[in-house]
Amino acid sequence: MEDGHIKKLEEYFARFPGVGPRQAHRFVYYLLWQNSSIVSDIAHTILNLKKHIGQCKNCFRYFPKDASGQYTLCRICSDSSRDNSILLIVEKDADLENIERTGLYNGNYFVVGGLIPLLETNKSRKIREKELLSRLTHEKSIIELIFALSAHVDGDNTVDYIKKILKPHMEKNEIRITVLGRGLSTGSELEYSDSETLRNALKNRS
Ligand SMILES: [Zn+2]
Repeated sequence: MEDGHIKKLEEYFARFPGVGPRQAHRFVYYLLWQNSSIVSDIAHTILNLKKHIGQCKNCFRYFPKDASGQYTLCRICSDSSRDNSILLIVEKDADLENIERTGLYNGNYFVVGGLIPLLETNKSRKIREKELLSRLTHEKSIIELIFALSAHVDGDNTVDYIKKILKPHMEKNEIRITVLGRGLSTGSELEYSDSETLRNALKNRS
């Protein structure tokens, strides 16, 4: 008979991205094999995650809070030397970090938080639609929006959907929409693109 504690933790692990029931089962047994101090350290680290990591109110990326815990904007959004006329839209924090690492882009970001699968019916639930609209309404300096979503079906579908909902706003404010050049081959994940690929993709945006 399966113990309730094991089952409950397995169910939590199985909710993690890319983790199936078999892996979740292995994770639980991995923890059971560790000594108590390691397990307690893992639990403590998880508990502290929300306390020490904040979400930027502007771009929605996660960033370490300072000791006061008061910061609401991340390092990029509070940097006045960045070009605030361009907003680059990425799916997730890892994509933003990869582009930032190349040092090739000096504009601002917006983490849209997901992609819309082709057959999704509740489209707005998958992405930060209201937050993006609100940012564009309040930040009058933005004149170009660059889509930097992964080049596959769901990425393209998301670009189409956002373009459609932003259309009235873009026309009214004469904002240009561009998509990263497809130096990124079809199916490629932005998160793993090297800096040369990203340089070409930025240069060849259209
Ligand atoms: Zn930010």
